[in-house]
Amino acid sequence: MKLLEDRIRRDGIVRDGDVLKVDSFLNHQMDIALFSEMGREFERLFHGCGVNKILTIEASGIGVACVTAQYFGCPVVFAKKSKTSNLPDDLYSARVRSFTHNRTFDIVVSRSFLGPEDRVLIIDDFLANGEALTGLIDIVRQAGAALVGAGICIEKAFQPGGDRIRSTGVRVESLARIRSMSAENGIEFC
Ligand code: 5GP
Repeated sequence: MKLLEDRIRRDGIVRDGDVLKVDSFLNHQMDIALFSEMGREFERLFHGCGVNKILTIEASGIGVACVTAQYFGCPVVFAKKSKTSNLPDDLYSARVRSFTHNRTFDIVVSRSFLGPEDRVLIIDDFLANGEALTGLIDIVRQAGAALVGAGICIEKAFQPGGDRIRSTGVRVESLARIRSMSAENGIEFC
């Protein structure tokens, strides 16, 4: 999606450790006009797939998931990062290793909000090693829901998550796919 690629080129900052900072329009301050275009594009890509629920993960997936949900006319459920490992059994849970914080935590979703009647589109801001997405897919499977696919704003295609998850048969659509990035040479898209 050219609009997003141009914005990443203009305002993205490449940090050590393969981290792209996009705080000025995606992860901290949010450009809602851009989110709206991304939501419209996700709807175009998954049009006619019967999506009736969007699943994301707190915190940075929530904004774009909510704007996208307006195009699908469906609710958003976000997986919470659990502070306790004593999880009640009215929750689905999965273990996720955080790319940006380098630690492991449990994500949880109430059984009340996801079930076999749902056709789920997962939305997230980044795809790197695929840990967050794998955890969310696991939760969809636990719920017995149908997984329509995943819509990702920025995929760092030089990291293994996207290829690994696509190889399991899951449809992953990324609006911007970064082939390489460095502070010296800038950002190159696929
Ligand atoms: P993964 O689980 O695929 O390794 O990483 C995805 C999650 O880590 C996303 O939900 C996102 O919050 C965070 N993340 C991964 N890479 C980056 C990055 O380069 N920049 C930012 N801002 N977040 C990232």
